[in-house]
Amino acid sequence: MKSCPYCHSTVSNHSFIAPPGRTICRYCDLIFRTVPIDKKEVMSRYKNHYFDRYAMDQFDGRRQNIFSHVLGQLSIKKIGKLLDVGTGCGFFLVEARKRGWQVKGIDLSRESVQFGRCRHHLDIHEGTLHDYDDDDRFDAVTYLNVLEHISEPWENIKKAALLLKNDGVLYVRFPNARYHALLYKLLAGWKSAEFAARFTIFHEFSFSQRFMKRMLVENGFKHVRIYNSPVSDISKDADRKYGLLSKVGTKALFLLTAVMRNCGVHNLPIGPSLEAIAVK
Ligand SMILES: [Zn+2]
Repeated sequence: MKSCPYCHSTVSNHSFIAPPGRTICRYCDLIFRTVPIDKKEVMSRYKNHYFDRYAMDQFDGRRQNIFSHVLGQLSIKKIGKLLDVGTGCGFFLVEARKRGWQVKGIDLSRESVQFGRCRHHLDIHEGTLHDYDDDDRFDAVTYLNVLEHISEPWENIKKAALLLKNDGVLYVRFPNARYHALLYKLLAGWKSAEFAARFTIFHEFSFSQRFMKRMLVENGFKHVRIYNSPVSDISKDADRKYGLLSKVGTKALFLLTAVMRNCGVHNLPIGPSLEAIAVK
């Protein structure tokens, strides 16, 4: 096995059915690529082509319920300065600003940054968290489905810790690696790998509850809590790219996680998306 990029173990978990080109570390639970990718090409793709290929997902309002939920979770902290990493066109920042946060964003995509600046008059740094060298210190740093795309997420989290004030809050929303791995195994066994890939999410890395908790604690965060996160409202999907099966399944999961939350068992990590909330 290729050594784990986080804990450097060379032992994989053989009971895990990995999607092609990925494996899981037996010790830290990180799912990672076994075949190298061209990092320069990936950076260039986000910088130059993210807006035309993917930004439309941000325009149909399917994430509004997520934004409201995240801002509710952040209300444990007195409203102050918020930094959103990988903010895209800035729709989350707009919602945060409405609730009184002083907002700032970071994104690689040139056109997304231009959109956020011109349309919403937002302060967005074009680049990565690593090349952001302002003296600002923040009360909250957020990553909404971003950290799993970053080539060294733990280094990014270290930088986020530096930018947070003491007692500042970190919020990370991410696909639940164990959920997607199990679903992949079931669907690939039932139909095919291609079919399974349509319903599951694996990016640069996939994080489980166990990995995320360990990584945040090892990078200086305390009071780490991990919950199921609500799913996006894909009934608002304008281009109908999701089939009926996917929509019904997502609605059922939405209801299940809502019931679990209301019953006080939302920390059982069974949903497709998880959220980590931690304090510096
Ligand atoms: Zn590992």
